[in-house]
Amino acid sequence: MRPDERHQPAPRQDVSYWCRNDHRVDIRIAADVEPPALWDCPRCGLPAGRDAQNPPGRVRAEPYKSHLAYVKERRTAEEGEALLAEALAALRRRRGE
Ligand SMILES: [Zn+2]
Repeated sequence: MRPDERHQPAPRQDVSYWCRNDHRVDIRIAADVEPPALWDCPRCGLPAGRDAQNPPGRVRAEPYKSHLAYVKERRTAEEGEALLAEALAALRRRRGE
């Protein structure tokens, strides 16, 4: 390698990332490298993504749902009743009723 070649800057690209705390991270990487989808935010350590409007891990503007609400979403009430009845029956069997 000739000395003057070493000083030739490689082509670069600037890539920006945003974490969910609205920290912007600007990095500069080689132009021929595909930017990673995620970059750790150096300020808070959370993963930052390339979409400023939709950073990874942002809490959606959905109303808070309890665990039970999620369970109810996955199971119908009838299924829940059946599971409960089954569990009670098993319990009674174990007790020898
Ligand atoms: Zn951050």
